[in-house]
Amino acid sequence: MDCIFCMIAEGKIPSSKVYEDETILAFRDINPQTPVHILVIPKAHVASVDEITEENSGLVARIFETIPKIAKAEGLTNGYRVITNVGEDGAQSVKHMHFHILGGKKLPERML
Ligand code: AMP
Ligand code: ZN
Repeated sequence: MDCIFCMIAEGKIPSSKVYEDETILAFRDINPQTPVHILVIPKAHVASVDEITEENSGLVARIFETIPKIAKAEGLTNGYRVITNVGEDGAQSVKHMHFHILGGKKLPERML
């Protein structure tokens, strides 16, 4: 499949990894929007949150169990933001589910 995050998960494209286990991977965003900008993905291809089912929702639990560990390791002691874009109206550019961890500065209260 022609999916850039699958290729990153398979090690076919290099990434700046910050966390990895059997099922999930976290790496630095190539175009950081904040001082700390990390993407957390399942290694298995899931297109977006809109594809989450009873069968695969454990992946999301694993991701959210790991996010606080990554935040702590990155020194985000004063808070951070977790976002995921879904589909065209959500402005999702990479169609492999990913959660952005954004932090390292005071973020704007509203995005719109
Ligand atoms: P989204 O718009 O939510 O789909 O976010 C996709 C994110 O992936 C963007 O913030 C991109 O900067 C990031 N991105 C795209 N290609 C790469 C890559 N090869 N390595 C790291 N981050 C990437
Ligand atoms: Zn993929």
